[in-house]
Amino acid sequence: MSVIATFGSHSALQILKGAKDEGFGTLCICQKGKEIPYKSFGVADEIITIDAYDDFFKHEDVLQERDAVLIPHASMIAYLGIDKINTIKVPYFGDKKILSIEADRDKQNAWLKDAGLTVPKVFATPEDIDRPCIIKFHGADGGRGYFLAQNTDGFYAQIKDRINDDYIIQEYVVGVPTYIHYFYSPLDDELEVLGFDKRYESNVDGIGRLAVRDQAYFDLHSSYTVTGNHPLVVRESLLPKVFEMGSAVVEHSRKLTPKGLYGAFSLETIITSDLQFYVFEISARIVAGTNVHMNGSPYSYLRYNEPMSTGRRIAREVKHAIERQQLEKVLG
Ligand code: ADP
Repeated sequence: MSVIATFGSHSALQILKGAKDEGFGTLCICQKGKEIPYKSFGVADEIITIDAYDDFFKHEDVLQERDAVLIPHASMIAYLGIDKINTIKVPYFGDKKILSIEADRDKQNAWLKDAGLTVPKVFATPEDIDRPCIIKFHGADGGRGYFLAQNTDGFYAQIKDRINDDYIIQEYVVGVPTYIHYFYSPLDDELEVLGFDKRYESNVDGIGRLAVRDQAYFDLHSSYTVTGNHPLVVRESLLPKVFEMGSAVVEHSRKLTPKGLYGAFSLETIITSDLQFYVFEISARIVAGTNVHMNGSPYSYLRYNEPMSTGRRIAREVKHAIERQQLEKVLG
């Protein structure tokens, strides 16, 4: 493998920059009109422009000629869909089998619970709601359309014409959202904590700038559309728990697929005032919040003593796999 390729979106800048830093050539597959950042920041040696995401398959032979390995991220998974991802012939970093578990909220919830993590309570029907809840629709749509309800009437008053959509009713946990950036190396059998972020979401993070009286006057409803991320460090005494939770999900994942979870992943958590982590989601690949650490985080600095983004860490794993002739361990 001599080239690292990814889709131009999500975390492509750090994936491509990290690949360059590790000595790889880089290739970016971009939808027409979205090439500017990848040109301007100088991270892509080659850009393949496509009209629609499905057109990627017309260019697979080019990626194969270049001896490329493809690094997936959430946007690529959302654009192509899991079924099409399973047909990709270009070498792919990560375990494809874990994607269908991640995409199914029930299976995902079972994974987290069986790994021993604390998860928010899930209510099977609106009639069961007995506390503040967040209602989430399926599919990673950046939290768009989510709403809060604290009883059955409140649910029906807001669900309206989306009643037949796929949704989950989850206990609303009051605390601070904290996204943990992990990397598990299958080559060295080591779990690393590369950083943390918190999200900047519209409109909940804007509502906090208004007095309660104005919020009521404007008749505002909370929404959770991600617009950006902030870097974060956590209270140091929480770190042992952070490592413990990451190891538990990796270990349990081996019961779910033959290879299990490896590479970059994230636990999306809320930390309560009694310092409990409630894990509301797992992302089984690089999360966009790692973009806050393109030049490394305080934790990756401790571990590597050089700039180490999650994107670069992925490239380093691919490099080590090539050097040790163990590529099968990192390709899914
Ligand atoms: P993603 O966009 O990664 O799929 P979610 O859709 O599960 O994440 O959540 C979007 C946002 O909603 C989170 O960033 C968080 O602010 C909020 N949130 C999600 N679940 C809960 C919960 N159980 N309690 C409180 N806030 C939550």
